Amino acid sequence: MNEKDKLDVIRINTDAWQHDLAKSTQVEKVNIEIFPLVPETHPALKRMMPNFDFNNPPVDPNKFASSLVETCKRHNGLGLSANQCGYEYRVFVMGSGDDYVAFFNPVIVWSSEETLKMEEGCLSFLDLFLNIERPARIKVVYQDYAGETKEAEFTGLTARCFQHELDHMNGIVYTHHAKPLSLQMAIKKRSKLTEKRRKLQKQLMSKVKNVSKQMAGLR
Ligand SMILES: [Zn+2]
Repeated sequence: MNEKDKLDVIRINTDAWQHDLAKSTQVEKVNIEIFPLVPETHPALKRMMPNFDFNNPPVDPNKFASSLVETCKRHNGLGLSANQCGYEYRVFVMGSGDDYVAFFNPVIVWSSEETLKMEEGCLSFLDLFLNIERPARIKVVYQDYAGETKEAEFTGLTARCFQHELDHMNGIVYTHHAKPLSLQMAIKKRSKLTEKRRKLQKQLMSKVKNVSKQMAGLR
C-alpha cells in the first residue's frame, strides 16, 4: 500500500495502543476475538452479503472490524471478508503491517478500461494461486467503522485486493474468474504446494521435539 492509500487507518492492538492503555488510570484488558476461518465449501462464501445497517447494527462495527483485522493479520493476509469467517455482514478489511482499513458497504463507482493480470491467493483457498485479469484502477465509496461515508481511489495491489474482497461480498470467489485450463493447472500445483508445506511442518515439528529433549537433558 502506498502512502495515499493509507486512509482512515484503524490502529488496533499495536504496541503504541497497548502502551496508551497501560498508561491510563483505568487499565482495561482488551481481548480481541480471533475468528476461525470457514472451509472453502461453506455456503456463506456463495451468498450475497446484505448491507450493514449502521442505524440498527447487528454487531458492534468497531469490535467486529477489529476481530476481522486481527484474524487477517494472524494469517498474514492482505484482505479478509466477514463471510470468510462465516459472518454474513457486508464488510471486509484490507491492509498490511499494523495498518488495516475496514470497508463497510463497499461499492466500486468507477473502474479503468485498462486491465492488469496479477496472481491472487485467498485465505479461504490455501495454496491456490490464480492469475486473474481485473481493472487496474478503481474509485470506490464505502462506510468506515463509524458509519461515515468515504471515497477513495486505488491502484496496484490495493485495487486488486479491493476487487477480490468485494467479490466475496457478492458470493463470488476468485476461481470464478479463472480460465478452466489455468484453474486445472493451479489445482495441480496446489496439491504439490500442500505436500511440500506438510513435509516442512513435519520436519519443523521433529526439530522442535529434538530441541525440547535436549533441553530436558540439561535440566
Ligand atoms: Zn479471498
